[in-house]
Amino acid sequence: MQLLKDRIMKGWPGERSAVHKDVLAYWTFRDEITFTSGLVFKGAKIIVPKQLRQEMLEKIHESHLGMIKCKERARDILYWPNMSTHIEKMVSQCAACNENRNSNPKEPLLSHPIPTRPWEKVGTDLFNHNGSEFLLCVDYFSKFPNILKLTETTSRGVIVAMKSIFARHGIPDVVVSDNGPQYASAEFKEFAKRWEFKHITSSPTHAQSNGQAERMVRTIKNLLKKSENGKGDPYISLLEYRNTPMEGVGLSPAQMLIGWRFKSKLPTSTLLLTPGGVDTIQQRLKKRQEKQKIYFDRRTRTMPDLYDGEKIRMQRGETWQPAVVLHKHQQPRSFVVRTSDGREYRRNRKHLLKTEETVVPITNILDFNSEMDTQTINGQAENLAREQTSVAEPDNDQITENLRGRLTGTSYRTRVDREVQLPARFRE
Ligand SMILES: [Zn+2]
Repeated sequence: MQLLKDRIMKGWPGERSAVHKDVLAYWTFRDEITFTSGLVFKGAKIIVPKQLRQEMLEKIHESHLGMIKCKERARDILYWPNMSTHIEKMVSQCAACNENRNSNPKEPLLSHPIPTRPWEKVGTDLFNHNGSEFLLCVDYFSKFPNILKLTETTSRGVIVAMKSIFARHGIPDVVVSDNGPQYASAEFKEFAKRWEFKHITSSPTHAQSNGQAERMVRTIKNLLKKSENGKGDPYISLLEYRNTPMEGVGLSPAQMLIGWRFKSKLPTSTLLLTPGGVDTIQQRLKKRQEKQKIYFDRRTRTMPDLYDGEKIRMQRGETWQPAVVLHKHQQPRSFVVRTSDGREYRRNRKHLLKTEETVVPITNILDFNSEMDTQTINGQAENLAREQTSVAEPDNDQITENLRGRLTGTSYRTRVDREVQLPARFRE
């Protein structure tokens, strides 16, 4: 590693023959090798130093996913010379992996249509493991498995578990299941109707049609068994399974369903853990944060003044209650206000809220409860607010003037100097 680091810093010699034999294995892809924050990378993959390779091999193999999956998983994030050979050797010597090897059932290859997007079509099945009943939902697109232990094995229990899965990933268009009593019930039919998905059950004549879920049940049971035999953590095994690229696709179920690699115990570069498009998202979040800060600072700096008769809201405990400003108190930033129940309060400006509602013309400030067609009035107020903000920053004086116009007269001026006639009933 030290030699390799040296080469990266000082540059590679022009001739292959001039390269030290210990770093010769890196010669062909020397342009891809970089040194960042104490680690050596081949592209975005971490190059594992010799003394850590055994530990990495053990981590790769921890979930006993078998030869192919172990290789796919490692190749996705790590690199060292002859890594695949080392994995092959390790897995072929493992009892747990050999014992539970898939028996390669020679089933006729049924090519079903591939869904156009993740979580469009989902297969489901129930299975028993060590005396507990589990629900499995597998996405036809990404092959991402979801497993939940059932608290009750009734149709109700299955529905509750499925709802929790759908709350995470969304509601699929189509759900495929067998004809088990939990799926064939009237309750499940009702669930499908309410949650608006199509439910297809495999008929006795088409025993293979729930194949996707049945295959995944076999895989998961196998994974759990291997994890137990190897004294591993079943959740780590599930995480590794979801994170392992599918052979021939090069993408993991997690990448296909959620859109990024999950962080696990295997060292993975930040670049590989960062989904595409995250830059734009981060920029948007930053922009929003800046905007919020500007608004917040503005609020703290200047609290626009309130005028007598202005309809506002007053903070009382957790809520803001409607009130009307009677007059300014001699103390700075202090106002005397009246709430709708007729009581008067002296309040600091920070407990009083200027709202869009204050744009509403107040027909009689002392008769706060007088009924108004609020919908129409609010509509008018919104129009006014829009006219003002669309032109420039709202000018408080202008707004106040307009309001006064509304209160006392029959028309007001907008910022674009347009005369707006108020409906006849407002003139009163
Ligand atoms: Zn194994």
